Amino acid sequence: MFDVIIAGCGPTGATLAAELRLHDVRVLVLEKETEPVSFVRIVGLHIRSLELMAMRGLLERILEHGRQRPAGGLFAAITKPAPKGLDSAHAYVLGIPQPSIDHLLEEHAIELGAQVRRGCAVADFEQDDEGVTVELANGERLRSRYLVGCDGGRSTVRKLLGVGFPGEPSRSETLMGEMEAGVPQEEIAAKVAEIRETNKRFWLRSFGEGVYQVVVPVAGVSDRAEPATLEDFKQQLRTIAGTDFGVHSPRWLSRFGDATRLAERYRVGRVLLAGDAAHVHPPTGGQGLNLGVQDAFNLGWKLAAQIRGWAPETLLDTYQAERHPVAEDVLDNTRAQMELLSTEPGPQAVRRLLTELMDFDEVNRYLIEKITAIGIRYDFGAGPDLLGRRMRDIDVKQGHLYGLLHRGRGLLLDRTQRLTVGGWSDRVDYLADPTAVLDVPCVLLRPDGHVAWIGDDQQDLDDHLSRWFGKPAN
Ligand SMILES: Cc1cc2nc3c(=O)[nH]c(=O)nc-3n(C[C@H](O)[C@H](O)[C@H](O)COP(=O)(O)OP(=O)(O)OC[C@H]3O[C@@H](n4cnc5c(N)ncnc54)[C@H](O)[C@@H]3O)c2cc1C
Repeated sequence: MFDVIIAGCGPTGATLAAELRLHDVRVLVLEKETEPVSFVRIVGLHIRSLELMAMRGLLERILEHGRQRPAGGLFAAITKPAPKGLDSAHAYVLGIPQPSIDHLLEEHAIELGAQVRRGCAVADFEQDDEGVTVELANGERLRSRYLVGCDGGRSTVRKLLGVGFPGEPSRSETLMGEMEAGVPQEEIAAKVAEIRETNKRFWLRSFGEGVYQVVVPVAGVSDRAEPATLEDFKQQLRTIAGTDFGVHSPRWLSRFGDATRLAERYRVGRVLLAGDAAHVHPPTGGQGLNLGVQDAFNLGWKLAAQIRGWAPETLLDTYQAERHPVAEDVLDNTRAQMELLSTEPGPQAVRRLLTELMDFDEVNRYLIEKITAIGIRYDFGAGPDLLGRRMRDIDVKQGHLYGLLHRGRGLLLDRTQRLTVGGWSDRVDYLADPTAVLDVPCVLLRPDGHVAWIGDDQQDLDDHLSRWFGKPAN
């Protein structure tokens, strides 16, 4: 009997497993693939994800495998520098190959004690009042108290749950791959610059040593079951650029569509959905992996609380209440970005107008904060603007605030040095630090770093500790 079975060991499943292990939850991750996927595509880790990695002591390890670049040019690839003074200690994008980040997150989950079984596909399940019986493709049956589907866009768990996945089907495709080119770099750069004046979905980016990442849009949707071929790339390059640049020797080739869909519910009884299993959208702005990892940070401590027995009755349902609107917003901003990438004159005019508007710092800042997820404010009721937002990493007497969140517990930061976490001290840490750079007296942080309370009154604090962390231990 496990506490939680997670279907899928992608970035969402691995992150969730690690978050649950911080609270000693018995976790089994079932992954259908026998080996990690070696398919290389560089993904961008955005500011909020980098902050979350810092909050769990993982950032240094991750930085070694990626390349930092400025956080500008993210929205619809409109080339504007990031606004100055973004409110984060990690105000950059980390370009990192997805197999590297997948591997680091899985390794971290295993180090914390999660069991990962590869070559095990979830094929069916049944839930009852006490738990879930999960059936694997080989007929084996396993039992757990909860099941979380982190099994990607074609999620078996979501389909078996019967949860609707409304939205738009794929209408166009993009070919993406890495290959060598047979003409000089200057010639390619000049042609690419000319075409990108009007076609922003086309790209040949040099990786050095004659290797290019090639991105070419394809009108319509072909048979997705058929793997992309070099000839597909050549044909599209000739159509769009008038030359195939003599491309040859592909490292890998792939295609992806622009389906945009959101699960109607994130929870049915003891079964939950997270990551691509709950939402899919085109990769414009590079938000999918970030969104899934952030779902996992939101869900992990709540599900752990449920299993440990201290969760307030409604805590687990706040997962959907908080994360569904965030995904809705991401889907909408990708829809908007896709329009802005269109070669039609109307959208091109809107793009020019938005490009002008982004010269206003506030517009540029708003869009960057949206894409990098540092602008999220959960609805925790009326209160100061900081309430419901994530708190940036600030200096505290003991070093950095995020360094105090590695164990995935709540934290009371008390500048008055008068308050106490009392009977919640098994779930919530306390830090009396008058030196902290805070313009409010006290802040209660949830394990995901969001501000759950601001104030200076012990009774009010106790009420909020109960709201988020259940009954006191004594
Ligand atoms: C071209 C491209 C570029 C992208 N760039 C970015 C980017 O820059 N930034 C970003 O944030 N995102 C990006 N994304 C999106 C990102 O890759 C996905 O959002 C992310 O991988 C989702 O993670 P996940 O763990 O939810 O799902 P997945 O990564 O799909 O993992 C699901 C796992 O579940 C397993 N599985 C499936 N079915 C079962 C089953 N029945 N039983 C057990 N296991 C199962 C699968 O084998 C897989 O390992 C990009 C996507 C594409 C296509």
